Amino acid sequence: HAKERGRNNYQFFHQAMNQRAVERQLIESNLRRALEQSEFTLHYQPKVDLQNHRITGVEALLRWMHPEWGLVQPERFIAIAEECGLIVPIGRWVLREACLQIVRWREASIPGVSIAVNVSAVEFRQRDFFDHALAILEETGADPACLQLELTETVLMRDVATSADLLARFKALGVKIAVDDFGTGYSSLSYLSQFPIDVLKIDQSFVRAIDGEAGKNGAIVGAVIDMGRNLHQRVIAEGVEDEEQLAFLKAHECNEAQGYLFSRPVDAALMQAMFGTGIAA
Ligand code: C2E
Ligand code: MG
Ligand code: MG
Ligand code: MG
Repeated sequence: HAKERGRNNYQFFHQAMNQRAVERQLIESNLRRALEQSEFTLHYQPKVDLQNHRITGVEALLRWMHPEWGLVQPERFIAIAEECGLIVPIGRWVLREACLQIVRWREASIPGVSIAVNVSAVEFRQRDFFDHALAILEETGADPACLQLELTETVLMRDVATSADLLARFKALGVKIAVDDFGTGYSSLSYLSQFPIDVLKIDQSFVRAIDGEAGKNGAIVGAVIDMGRNLHQRVIAEGVEDEEQLAFLKAHECNEAQGYLFSRPVDAALMQAMFGTGIAA
C-alpha cells in the first residue's frame, strides 16, 4: 500500500508541477505582450508622518490590467518576470512612469512629492542599471531628490562592494535609498550601517503581529525603531491596519506608517485628490 501511495503522491506532484509550468508559460507569454500593449499601470500608496498625519510621499506599486484576466497583482507575475528577465524592461517602464508622475505632480503644484520605486535583484544587478536610471531622470526632468529606491536587504547583501558603489552614485545624485521588508532578510548590521541608507521599512509581518508591550514582535518593532533613530534613518512601518498598531508605533516614536488604515494603493487621480484633502485616519 505504501508503494501505491508513493506512486500516487508522485503523480500528484508531477501534475502539480505541470500545472505550474503551464501557468508560468501562460503568464510569461502574456507579459511579453503586456509591455507592447501598455497594459501596466502604477498605483500609489501614501506614507504618513506619525507626528502630524501629513503625507510624506507615496510608494509606486505595479499593476497589470490584463484584457481578459482583469487586474493582476504583483504576487502573480513579478517572480516570473524576474526568472525570464522581463523584469528589466518592466522595471525601466516603472521607473520612467514614476519619474513622469513626479513631474506631473510638480506641474500640478503639489510640492515635493517623493515617489518610492521597488527595484528587484535582477534589475539592481544589471551593469547599466545606474546609467539607465540617470538617463530616465534626465529625459523626464524629474527631481532626483523626489525619487526613492526600495531595495531589500538580500539584494544589498549579495555583493556588498557593488551595492556600496551603486548606492554612493545614487546618493550623489540626491536619490534616496530605502531598505524594504526590513527584518526578513539576512543582513549584516555592520554592513547595513555603512551603506548610505535614508529609510528603513519594517516588514509587515512584524507590524501585523504587534501584540502589546510584552510581545516578541512588538519588541522587534521597537528595536528597529531605536536602531533607525540612532543611525539617523527614518523608520516606516509597513502594513499598518489597525489603531492598536498605530498607537504602539506612535508610543515608540516611529517616524512614518503605510497601510490600509490610512489608504490602500490607489490610481494616480485618486492619490492626487488625497494630497488635497489629506487622510482621514
Ligand atoms: P512591497 O514593496 O513590500 O509593497 C508593500 C505591499 O503591501 C503592497 O502589495 C501593498 O499593496 C501591500 N500593503 C500595503 N499596506 C498593506 C496593509 O495594510 N495590509 C496588507 N495586507 N497589505 C498591505 P502589492 O502591491 O501587491 O505588491 C507586492 C510586492 O510586489 C511588493 O512588496 C514588491 O515587492 C513587489 N512589487 C510591487 N510593485 C513592484 C514594481 O514596480 N517592481 C518590482 N520589482 N516589484 C514590485
Ligand atoms: Mg516596497
Ligand atoms: Mg515591503
Ligand atoms: Mg515585499
